[in-house]
Amino acid sequence: MGKGGSASGTTAVERLGPLAATIPLDAKDVTKRSIRESIPPHLFKRSYVKSLGHVALDLCWVAGTWVAALMALRVLPGFCAPLVWCAYWLYQGINCTALWVLAHECGHGGFTDSRLVNDIVGWLLHSSLLTPYFSWAITHAKHHHYTNHMTNGETWVPSTASPDKASVKFAKSAAGTWRRIVVVALLGWYTYLLTNATGAKQNAGQSHFSPSARALFKPKDANLVRASNLGMLLMGGVLAWCVSVWGASAVCFNYLVPQTVCNFFLCAITFMQHTHEAVPHFDAEKWTWLRGALSTIDRSMGPHVDWRLHHIVDSHVVHHIFSEMPFYGAKEATPYVRKHLGVYYNFSATGRTFTSACTRPSSSGPARTASSGSAEPRSPPAVRRRRRRRCGGWRGALSAPRHIAPSHPPWRRWRVLM
Ligand SMILES: [Zn+2]
Repeated sequence: MGKGGSASGTTAVERLGPLAATIPLDAKDVTKRSIRESIPPHLFKRSYVKSLGHVALDLCWVAGTWVAALMALRVLPGFCAPLVWCAYWLYQGINCTALWVLAHECGHGGFTDSRLVNDIVGWLLHSSLLTPYFSWAITHAKHHHYTNHMTNGETWVPSTASPDKASVKFAKSAAGTWRRIVVVALLGWYTYLLTNATGAKQNAGQSHFSPSARALFKPKDANLVRASNLGMLLMGGVLAWCVSVWGASAVCFNYLVPQTVCNFFLCAITFMQHTHEAVPHFDAEKWTWLRGALSTIDRSMGPHVDWRLHHIVDSHVVHHIFSEMPFYGAKEATPYVRKHLGVYYNFSATGRTFTSACTRPSSSGPARTASSGSAEPRSPPAVRRRRRRRCGGWRGALSAPRHIAPSHPPWRRWRVLM
């Protein structure tokens, strides 16, 4: 593998490491069928008890975290309050993200065998977290369909602006990276929903809330978009009622801040799962569905958070290949798929490289990164360990490559990070 040489005579894998390895265009040994056959069939089975049980458990975590914070505020001295609130916001943000992930599962049809149950549960959960359920599920399906496609990708499509531009250099600096992190944390999710920021250029400006957004939806989707908007409006009404009863600051502290943390996790996790300086994005002629799906990167946020987030972070490769598989199946299937894929399986520790993924250039354009040729045997364990150490993290991912066209208006400048 990795014989797709460049003018310098070196392969992408030699220059960038094993994460640059991708299957040949005419791959015979690694196909969707071969990957499916490597997974025990029972892992594809969906369970009402397990899936609905996870919703109930997540709701208990939300309630338990809220009660624990209230108790801590009551018991601890007053100077501890800022610490208690910060801990509450972070952990409740994780709890909200866990529920959000289950609604994402509903949109894929991986929650239960019933489309009706999936849509009711997904609509309720996503609406309660101010996400338009059907609208987002439709565009998320496009993300799965065109993963790492340079022109049709739905989210986090790398910019092709010159890295020599002053604004691009600033975007990759520490100050530029942290500015983008703050902007994405506060505004990123809704900017994506309202303008399709970071998606395919031809779809820029299209809104998830518009039934007539032709680049995102078909005419038959119009009522689903309206139903999604209705869910958002109803939740807005619930929040307005809460403000009238408990006041704006209480609603902000107890709900809006954790919900904003959840939004940031959504943007950051999605970014990290498809962005690494070595992992290629493909032009149309070099892209295949499986190449795109295998350009997904499994990461880890630590065993507890991985578990709380239903393994969306550490079994994402399998999720991209079989999105209708329940998350508890994807987690168990990952070792089988990793063994079958060998060097084509991407894993990167997350803790150290969040910002580096923002500051280092993405691999885009098959002439530079996509390789072709026959499969290599799996790397020896020492090489794999080195690769995991080298490839880690959140700071790296956010600081990596996302350059931006200086000619872009300010509102588009940080699309690099989303
Ligand atoms: Zn998905």
